[in-house]
Amino acid sequence: MRVLVTGGAGYIGSAVAEELLHGGHEVVVYDNLAKGHRDAVPPGASFVHGDLGDAQLLRETLRSSRVEAVVHMAADSLVGESIVNPARYYANNVGNGLALLNAMRELGIDRLVFSSTVAVHGEPRRLPIEESDPTDPINPYGETKLAFERALRWYDEAYGLHSVSLRYFNAAGATERAGERHDPETHLIPLVLQVASGTRREITVFGDDYDTRDGTCIRDYIHVIDLARAHVLAIGACDADSRAYNLGCGGDGTTVLEVIAAARAVTGHAIPAQPGARRPGDPARLVASSARIERDLGWRPAHADIRGIVESAWRFAESRR
Ligand code: UDP
Repeated sequence: MRVLVTGGAGYIGSAVAEELLHGGHEVVVYDNLAKGHRDAVPPGASFVHGDLGDAQLLRETLRSSRVEAVVHMAADSLVGESIVNPARYYANNVGNGLALLNAMRELGIDRLVFSSTVAVHGEPRRLPIEESDPTDPINPYGETKLAFERALRWYDEAYGLHSVSLRYFNAAGATERAGERHDPETHLIPLVLQVASGTRREITVFGDDYDTRDGTCIRDYIHVIDLARAHVLAIGACDADSRAYNLGCGGDGTTVLEVIAAARAVTGHAIPAQPGARRPGDPARLVASSARIERDLGWRPAHADIRGIVESAWRFAESRR
């Protein structure tokens, strides 16, 4: 299939583009390079440097590349930023997303995979979080992702545009070419690895008095290769009613201290860690259930082990030094 990947120069998007190529698909990456990197786009994909807000270029790209399906990854995705600048999140995650849907509708493209977030559920009432659990986002980031998911439902009912939304938490790890390169970096695993490589002196643990097995926050770290596989599978599932799937690694998740211990084992570096204050807005535990996508599409994470995840991230970090 000919697939357009919006945000395909980003961390997860470039892994999705890679996996699509492995699966024999033709790939067009559409990215404004605000956060992505041109050299992250895999060599077999074509690249259009464009903004989703540029409706004319987007339509022209969809038309001239004879796109049959879209994986929509382009979005703003920082919770804190969304709280101080909701206008940006509504304009990009909702407004630009709708422009994409309207262009698809005009051209009769009826398959879309949407990269969503488990943050649409808000504060979890039980764990692991399932698709049928209430959706009640607690920040504009989750709210705008949910607004777009809801639009997808109605675009399917009225226009027959079929979609699959994938909701997940902490993408982690790396492929041979696609790894985390955020600036500034805020995510735990790359920060811990910066300590191991000597570019950072120590890691601060944001809170060690949570009600968890070692007092630090539990997250569901999911390998970017597993995420990419889920997106490719989901394209094949866009021929039935639109729906959402939660993606998680199964099990109890991983604490901050367990991530640091895995990084020590992988790198052989002592990685000094200091306890610090809790980060505002951090729930103690976030774990998602992927029972539904396993049942429907046969997806299971193949790289759920945190040590393997950290190892791949470390290989990527070392390859860029
Ligand atoms: N974290 C930490 N120190 C850091 C960065 C993150 O202790 O320097 C913790 C954070 O509080 C959270 C977990 O690591 O419990 C994962 O944070 P990250 O920002 O990577 O992802 P998030 O869970 O916010 O999506």
